[in-house]
Amino acid sequence: MTETQPATGQPELSIVVPVFNEEAVLQMFYDAMRPVLDGITPAWDIVFVNDGSRDRTAEIIAGLHARDPRVKLVDFARNHGKEIALTAGLDHAHGKAVVPMDVDLQDPPETIVRMVEQWRAGYDMVLARRSDRSEDSFLKRFTANGFYQVMNRVSDVKLPDNVGDFRLMDQRVVAVLRQYRERTRFMKGIFASLGFRQTVVEYARPQRAAGTTKFRAWKLWTLALEGIVSFSSAPLKIWTYIGLAGAAFALMFMIYIVLTTLLFGNTVPGYASLISFVLLFNSLTLIGLGVIGEYIARIFYEVKGRPLYILRGTLGIDP
Ligand code: UDP
Ligand code: MG
Repeated sequence: MTETQPATGQPELSIVVPVFNEEAVLQMFYDAMRPVLDGITPAWDIVFVNDGSRDRTAEIIAGLHARDPRVKLVDFARNHGKEIALTAGLDHAHGKAVVPMDVDLQDPPETIVRMVEQWRAGYDMVLARRSDRSEDSFLKRFTANGFYQVMNRVSDVKLPDNVGDFRLMDQRVVAVLRQYRERTRFMKGIFASLGFRQTVVEYARPQRAAGTTKFRAWKLWTLALEGIVSFSSAPLKIWTYIGLAGAAFALMFMIYIVLTTLLFGNTVPGYASLISFVLLFNSLTLIGLGVIGEYIARIFYEVKGRPLYILRGTLGIDP
């Protein structure tokens, strides 16, 4: 395949795709994307970030790059997780507009056409909102809903509903994002906190085209925790109030004990209530400590100031 494309100069559109063990779907993704992107502009590139895959993902991308140099690769030395992979992709995406998306075609390529229209109409950020979540299991929808409710209540940023990482950003927005160097990062929250001129396009989210989901329940739980801890200090502060309520209760209970002792003499029983309170308040103390630990662990990781990701190499990326 020989391509007519500008060898130098800034691409009009960069697609950023984190991939982890995705050999089954890569070729399909490229075949689906190519005609759509060509319809928008010949000056596009796709920046794949290989997130430490243990299958043939890197080889397949290298093959695509050999045939079409607009396919580029940022290769991690190990798995860092999707959020960091996305960050690395944005670091290396120099298009005038940048679109991060999943490789499994759950973010439909045709949506990009409508996003680009809105961008050319003057918006800096175009969010793709799922018109329904009927493809997700009941449990995933239920927990996602719960998470959004809690998150929007306790944090200062408001997460838009049913919006994921799939969006179009002007290079201006990406330039701001590049300055966010926190290690423990929750991209949805960071995106939401940026501002700029935003608009929304709707799309229906299909099933994964091939391969299996890379997110398990535990990963989603840690992601949710990440979101809340990095955008809210409410879990940290709530312990003051729990402590105050506990103290108020203890005071009333003390008055009650003193009074009954004065009125009825020292009746020894009380083992049950005693042991209950000891257990209850000790557990609350431990939970409070655990929450503080979550924050301290993050402070610890941040102050070390290690690089966000380790590169094995790149393909087609200018130094
Ligand atoms: N992914 C990644 N690193 C990981 C996990 C996932 O780069 O540690 C990528 C994956 O290859 C895919 C995208 O993130 O392109 C979304 O993953 P997936 O489709 O498995 O998530 P789901 O759609 O099930 O939430
Ligand atoms: Mg998916």
